[in-house]
Amino acid sequence: MTVVVLGSGPVGQTAALLLARRGVPVVLVDEHERRDPVGSRAICQQRDTLDVWAWLGAGCLAEEGLTWTTARTFHRDRELFALRLPDAGSALPPFVNLSQARVEEVLDELIARQPLIDVRRGHRVTGLTQPGRVVVECDTAAGPRRIEADYAIACTGAHGDVVRRAVGEQLAGVSFADLFLICDIRADLPGWAAERRFFFDPPWNPGRQVLIHPCPGAQFRIDWQVPDDYDLAAEETGGALDRRIRAIIGDRPYEVVWRSVYRFHTRLVRRMRAGRVLLAGDCAHLVAPFGARGLNSGIADAENAAWKLASVLRGEAGEGLLDSYHAERYAAAVENAEVTTATMDFLVPRDDKQRRHRAEVLARAARDPAAHAEVDSGRLAEPFWYAGSPLTTPDPARPFAGRPPRGALPPPGPGILLPDVTVAGGRLRDLARAGFLLLTTPGVPAAGLRSVEIPVGGALGARPGEAWLVRPDAYVAAVLRDTAAIGPALRRATGG
Ligand SMILES: Cc1cc2nc3c(=O)[nH]c(=O)nc-3n(C[C@H](O)[C@H](O)[C@H](O)COP(=O)(O)OP(=O)(O)OC[C@H]3O[C@@H](n4cnc5c(N)ncnc54)[C@H](O)[C@@H]3O)c2cc1C
Repeated sequence: MTVVVLGSGPVGQTAALLLARRGVPVVLVDEHERRDPVGSRAICQQRDTLDVWAWLGAGCLAEEGLTWTTARTFHRDRELFALRLPDAGSALPPFVNLSQARVEEVLDELIARQPLIDVRRGHRVTGLTQPGRVVVECDTAAGPRRIEADYAIACTGAHGDVVRRAVGEQLAGVSFADLFLICDIRADLPGWAAERRFFFDPPWNPGRQVLIHPCPGAQFRIDWQVPDDYDLAAEETGGALDRRIRAIIGDRPYEVVWRSVYRFHTRLVRRMRAGRVLLAGDCAHLVAPFGARGLNSGIADAENAAWKLASVLRGEAGEGLLDSYHAERYAAAVENAEVTTATMDFLVPRDDKQRRHRAEVLARAARDPAAHAEVDSGRLAEPFWYAGSPLTTPDPARPFAGRPPRGALPPPGPGILLPDVTVAGGRLRDLARAGFLLLTTPGVPAAGLRSVEIPVGGALGARPGEAWLVRPDAYVAAVLRDTAAIGPALRRATGG
């Protein structure tokens, strides 16, 4: 049994490591002979992403990253409000800022030590067919090569058209007109090191916005919205880029570490499962990075795909389980597209109505704290809730109330990721990742499953007589009050 993972960006790397950790041999393919460490790209790594990487042995990423806990929002020259990120009782911080380049480096080190991962660099995928098994055609310096596997996870990113076309897919949606200039600078900015700052319409970028994130090593990511005819090369040679930076940091010394100009998109494939191929990460969905939903949602795709493929390959579940990969992760992609589109409508209004709404909200937020929740500078990445998934057994006593308010988590229940709590045997999420787990309240029998006793109440809000069935990605599949219901809930959670 083998899975071929196409593309060794952070999503492909994580998928390969997760499969190997679950005992599945992997061939990991990438077109580049070596990694190009240029540029930071995704910098905001969310708590549950850090949790997955920690389980894989990359706990150092949470430690190396810069923890920020306060998000400040300004309008023109005045601060509107400051939000503190909730702590959620986890040992991991809500977010750290750490460059994608560093993440990739650490994951590469883990991959090099993992005997179940066969890395094939310098292999450009040129075609893929599925005549029973998956057959991948590659171009290499030594001539064409063919790789066969039982399944594939396609993680070839935004430019992975070859793979998308081969499975009859494309990224459909919209691209935004305005551009964004991104500069990573190194500078000493006292007081800015643990805060994210968002400026609407600052005097030094009138009519547009600027986002500033602190990063490790006294670096700062500055992100300006710029007109669509913006010319970075002309700004650099004419000194305008220096004036732009000095308008923010004043007369301090600084060094530009990386700069780039981007256009953002909201684009999705129609199906994230195409036969034996699961599409993941940017290969399946692109969203604007406000809210950090790109890489973080790609890691959730990888986790979802890996436990399901491992279960199918080990004969613990039928192929039907793979349909739930599309059901769950496409719903998450649609949610991310909706959330980031709302943010872009606020940041870059497309018509007079949206412009008037934004002006009215920003004016009201200056005098009325109740308006702060309407100021949309990005709803930060959060775990998706699989309450409507075919794998989830609903509990009428715990109905899912829909998307929670910004910054809040839904109460634990069916379809929700377990809170990160520690019990006598260790971290509950780590125990769950070893395979389906039953959490039993005192006096409830284990029904032949691996089980851990949990108290009534506690972080889960468990009630007397309940058993909680938890999936290998630490999501709650069912909350049951009758042991006879455990078998059917388990069959449902494995796609049966
Ligand atoms: C400026 C910027 C800031 C961002 N900030 C954030 C953020 O703060 N938080 C966040 O969550 N996300 C952020 N993102 C998004 C994030 O960078 C992407 O979501 C992430 O890189 C996606 O990872 P991936 O592994 O899916 O794809 P990629 O990183 O694009 O990797 C794809 C891999 O596939 C390989 N490949 C492609 N085609 C082929 C082929 N034919 N054959 C073989 N190999 C192939 C490529 O070489 C590459 O290694 C940001 C993006 C940008 C541009």
